[in-house]
Amino acid sequence: MDDNGSECVICMCESRDTLILPCRHLCLCNGCADNLRYQANNCPICRAKFYALLQVRAMRRKVTNGASGQAVVTTRPAVRLLLVI
Ligand SMILES: [Zn+2]
Ligand SMILES: [Zn+2]
Repeated sequence: MDDNGSECVICMCESRDTLILPCRHLCLCNGCADNLRYQANNCPICRAKFYALLQVRAMRRKVTNGASGQAVVTTRPAVRLLLVI
Protein backbone atom coordinates (compact mmCIF):
# COMPACT_ATOMS: atom_id res chain seq x y z
CA MET A 1 0.00 0.00 0.00
CA ASP A 2 1.25 3.48 -0.80
CA ASP A 3 2.25 5.22 2.38
CA ASN A 4 3.78 8.35 0.92
CA GLY A 5 0.81 10.68 0.65
CA SER A 6 -0.66 12.79 3.39
CA GLU A 7 -4.25 11.75 2.81
CA CYS A 8 -6.15 9.22 4.83
CA VAL A 9 -5.57 5.73 3.40
CA ILE A 10 -9.27 4.88 3.67
CA CYS A 11 -11.12 7.81 2.09
CA MET A 12 -8.13 9.30 0.20
CA CYS A 13 -9.36 12.85 0.71
CA GLU A 14 -9.17 13.99 4.32
CA SER A 15 -5.80 14.70 5.88
CA ARG A 16 -4.37 12.18 8.29
CA ASP A 17 -4.71 13.05 11.92
CA THR A 18 -5.15 9.76 13.73
CA LEU A 19 -2.33 7.60 15.00
CA ILE A 20 -2.86 3.90 15.53
CA LEU A 21 -1.49 2.34 18.70
CA PRO A 22 0.65 0.38 19.29
CA CYS A 23 2.02 0.27 15.70
CA ARG A 24 2.03 4.10 15.47
CA HIS A 25 0.92 4.34 11.87
CA LEU A 26 -0.47 7.77 11.15
CA CYS A 27 -2.78 6.85 8.29
CA LEU A 28 -6.37 7.80 9.12
CA CYS A 29 -8.56 10.87 9.25
CA ASN A 30 -10.75 11.22 12.31
CA GLY A 31 -13.95 10.26 10.46
CA CYS A 32 -12.51 6.98 9.17
CA ALA A 33 -10.94 6.31 12.55
CA ASP A 34 -14.38 6.45 14.12
CA ASN A 35 -15.72 4.01 11.54
CA LEU A 36 -12.75 1.68 11.80
CA ARG A 37 -13.20 1.38 15.54
CA TYR A 38 -16.52 -0.33 15.00
CA GLN A 39 -15.67 -2.32 11.88
CA ALA A 40 -12.20 -3.73 12.44
CA ASN A 41 -9.42 -4.06 14.93
CA ASN A 42 -6.58 -4.08 12.47
CA CYS A 43 -4.33 -1.35 11.18
CA PRO A 44 -4.98 -0.83 7.43
CA ILE A 45 -1.23 -0.46 6.81
CA CYS A 46 0.39 -3.32 8.70
CA ARG A 47 -2.67 -5.37 9.71
CA ALA A 48 -1.56 -5.43 13.32
CA LYS A 49 -4.27 -5.46 15.93
CA PHE A 50 -4.71 -2.07 17.53
CA TYR A 51 -6.02 -1.20 20.96
CA ALA A 52 -6.31 2.55 20.66
CA LEU A 53 -6.53 5.43 18.23
CA LEU A 54 -4.88 8.72 19.02
CA GLN A 55 -6.41 11.72 17.30
CA VAL A 56 -4.12 14.69 17.03
CA ARG A 57 -5.38 18.00 15.81
CA ALA A 58 -3.38 21.18 15.70
CA MET A 59 -5.42 24.13 16.90
CA ARG A 60 -4.30 27.57 15.89
CA ARG A 61 -4.86 30.47 18.20
CA LYS A 62 -4.17 34.09 17.67
CA VAL A 63 -3.11 35.91 20.78
CA THR A 64 -2.56 39.63 20.83
CA ASN A 65 0.23 40.84 22.99
CA GLY A 66 -1.21 43.80 24.90
CA ALA A 67 2.00 45.70 25.47
CA SER A 68 3.37 45.74 21.94
CA GLY A 69 0.14 45.11 20.05
CA GLN A 70 1.78 42.29 18.14
CA ALA A 71 -0.32 39.33 17.14
CA VAL A 72 1.23 36.02 17.98
CA VAL A 73 -0.07 32.80 16.53
CA THR A 74 0.39 29.79 18.72
CA THR A 75 -0.32 26.25 17.70
CA ARG A 76 -1.27 23.78 20.28
CA PRO A 77 -2.15 20.21 19.62
CA ALA A 78 -5.43 18.80 20.84
CA VAL A 79 -5.15 15.12 21.52
CA ARG A 80 -7.97 12.66 21.97
CA LEU A 81 -7.38 9.04 22.81
CA LEU A 82 -9.99 6.52 21.72
CA LEU A 83 -9.70 3.18 23.36
CA VAL A 84 -10.80 0.11 21.48
CA ILE A 85 -11.98 -2.72 23.62
ZN1 LIG B 1 -10.57 9.07 5.93
ZN1 LIG C 1 0.15 -0.25 11.55
